[in-house]
Formats: sequence, structure tokens, C-alpha cells
Amino acid sequence: MKIFEEIESEVQSYARSFPRIFNRAKGELLWDEEGNEYLDFLAGAGTLNYGHNNDVFKKALLEYIEADGISHGLDMHTKAKETFLETFNEVILKPRGLEYVVQFTGPTGTNAVEAAMKLARNVTGRENIISFTNGFHGVSLGALSATGNAHHRGASGVSMPGITRMPFDGYMGDDIDTNAYLDKVLSDSSSGIDKPAAVIVETVQGEGGVNAASPEWLRGLQDVCHKHDILMILDDIQAGCGRTGTFFSFEEAGLKPDIVTMSKSLSGYGLPFAVVMFRPELDQWKPGEHNGTFRGNNLAFVTATAALNTYWKDDAFEKEIKRKADYVSERLNGLADQFGDGNFTLKGRGMFQGINCVDGELASKITKECFANNLIIETSGAEDQIIKIFCPLVITDENLKKGLDILEAAVKKVCAKIDEFPEESDYFDHVQVGEDAQWAS
Ligand SMILES: *Cc1c(COP(=O)(O)O)cnc(C)c1O
Repeated sequence: MKIFEEIESEVQSYARSFPRIFNRAKGELLWDEEGNEYLDFLAGAGTLNYGHNNDVFKKALLEYIEADGISHGLDMHTKAKETFLETFNEVILKPRGLEYVVQFTGPTGTNAVEAAMKLARNVTGRENIISFTNGFHGVSLGALSATGNAHHRGASGVSMPGITRMPFDGYMGDDIDTNAYLDKVLSDSSSGIDKPAAVIVETVQGEGGVNAASPEWLRGLQDVCHKHDILMILDDIQAGCGRTGTFFSFEEAGLKPDIVTMSKSLSGYGLPFAVVMFRPELDQWKPGEHNGTFRGNNLAFVTATAALNTYWKDDAFEKEIKRKADYVSERLNGLADQFGDGNFTLKGRGMFQGINCVDGELASKITKECFANNLIIETSGAEDQIIKIFCPLVITDENLKKGLDILEAAVKKVCAKIDEFPEESDYFDHVQVGEDAQWAS
């Protein structure tokens, strides 16, 4: 532990919440160097949707490495990239009627966002981009300008022009359609809002507090974009790859975004990988205009291909996510009813859910209590007031129940201020949440 204090930068964040040295992981489980086992309800902030060290992907990766497959290739054509593109086209794009050109960017989400914003500005010849309250798009300068969080923005040290912020769905309360406001200011040449190149939006704001936009609002936003000839950039870096129940998080709303960014769980194995996709007409890049040394992470192409082949060739995985998501909703509803004192509200959709504890201190007490009981779970939102339930999608039913049991016991302990963490046996006799018998089947 000492070396981390000695020479690792103060910029550490998750390490502060979970001060252990982890050295092994499988599926939804992590072990520290003392052999203690933890349930992972953080899942790399959405990077480990298919769990840690997924056996199928590991096998593909080991075989590829063993055969001296290319590991780094700049942006040169490689067999691994060819197979990934073919698979992505056949398994994901074609069945969804989406025609996109795929651009490999530097392997972080923020770099895909940079590319998306540059492209939108260059293609339209306009500078302004609309982003939304509480949006999070990364921390490099362009992406940071579109990010709402004051803590992150404060670190930039320069002004970040070229962005106009608009209220996200529900920001002004449930009764106010914020798209009407956007439409109004874009229709009024004297509104003071320069005609934008694009809007950039998340369907469920992850870092911003698990705020899920309704399908109606998303469709309304797309209509406003079409009406005013503005591009729609959909940042699916966190909500994509099955987190909300479908491969793309915008499938339920039936959107056809002009530009889509993806990263986090795209490689499937936690390997760095990011892409931006767009309508072919928008592909107006000149060779090498947006480059990056690590655009060709071929190991990630191999595991990403394995993920598509394993989970997305039919709808079995979508059904599994939905079944688990329904169970999470049911458990969280029960928990909010019993212990929330009328204050807790539930957020999100699919396996992208959260509890709004209103008070950041309360949320942090609960997550600390969870960690004391070997559940790794984090908060998000402006005041870190949202507990984010973010386990791997492939979690076993048994461990999903176990994790939610620990969370529930922690909420009970913190909210009821009882001294002892309840023993499983006596505790579960008293709590009636979830249809355990049905679930266990
Ligand atoms: C994580 C995230 C990013 C940034 O990705 P990095 O790999 O951390 O740069 C951008 N947008 C969204 C929605 C994210 O969740």
C-alpha cells in the first residue's frame, strides 16, 4: 500500500473508495491480495458488462497471442480488424438497419467524443454544439467543454467555448418539455444561441446521476435536430453494449443518430478500445486528420469480435438482461418503500439503475457500509447522491440477489441507524422484498 501513497498522484479516485490491493478477478467477483472476495457492482464503470476475464474471450485472446497475431498495427489493415468489422456489420449494424462508417480513434471514450465533435463542426462549418445539463463526455478539452460536472470542468484551466448547455429531460421537472425550449431558441434568430453543428446526448446519463431520458423526449430531440438541420451525436460509451437491455441504448426509442460514440464495454475484456460511427455522407475526413498511435489495438478487436459472436447473434442475452433488470427494479422499489422515508427515488432503466438518496453523505455512508460487507458499489451525480447499481450483465442470479441483499441491509442499517449489520438468517426473515422463490428457479 505504501508505494501508492509515496509516488502515485493524488488524482486517484476509485482507489480511495476501495483501498485494497486487488489481484484476481472472475465474472462479477474480485479478490484482494489477502484472498478476500468482493462482489463487483461497479464493473469498471460499465467496461465489464460481460464480467472479468470472460472465459470465451480469454480463450480467443490466448490463441491469438500464442499464434503471434498482430498486437499493434497503427491503422493498418489487419486480419483481426477485418474480422471485427465484418462481424460488427453482420451482427450489429445490418440487423438494426443502420448504415454507418466506423472510425477507430485513440482507445478512450473521450477521444471518440473529440472525433465526433470535430467531424460535426467540420462537416457543418458551425462551431456551436449543444450539450445537456449533467452530461458527461470525458475530460480531454473538447469533450470536457461538453461535460457539465463543475469538479471536472474546474481542472481545465482555460475557457471552453463552442458549447451551449440545454436542460436535459426532466431537468425542469416532469411537466416541462425541455425540447420545446430548445426548438424555441433555435427558431428565434435573436435568442442569442448560435445555430449549432450538433447536439451531443446520452440516453442515460451515467456520471451525471443515472438520469434516463424518456423515449418520447429522445425522439422529440431527434425531431428538433431534423427540423433545424443539426446533427445528433449519441454518446453511447456507457449506456451501450447491452447496459440498458439492447446493444445500443437508443434502440428502444427507435433513433437513427447521425453520429454514435462507443467505448467502455466494446472490447468486452476491459481492453482499451473506442470507435465513432457516422452516416457515410458525413465521412469527410482527409487522411490522417484525426489520428492516434493506439487506433489499432488488435487484442481488443479479437475480444470485441468474440463478445459480438457470443452474446449478440440472437436475442437470448437481451432477454436475460431484461429478466435481471426487472428483478433489480423490484428489489430497489421495495427498498425505497421500506427504508427511503419517502425521500428515495429510483432512476435509470435496464441494468443501468440507481437510487437517489438526495443526500450525498447518506449515499456515501451506504456505499461504505456495502464495502465493509464486501460489495464494491459507487455513487454518481453532482453531489454523489446517487447509488449506482452497475454489476456485470452476466452476473449469476445468486450473486445478483446477494449483492442486492448486502445493499438492502446497508440501507437498512444506515437509515434505521441500527448498530449491527443484520445477520443473514434473522434479517431475511423480516424483509419481504422480491419473489425469492420465483427468482431462485
Ligand atoms: C466514460 C465516458 C466517457 C469517457 O470515456 P473515457 O474512456 O473515460 O475517456 C465519455 N462519455 C460517456 C458517456 C462516458 O460514460
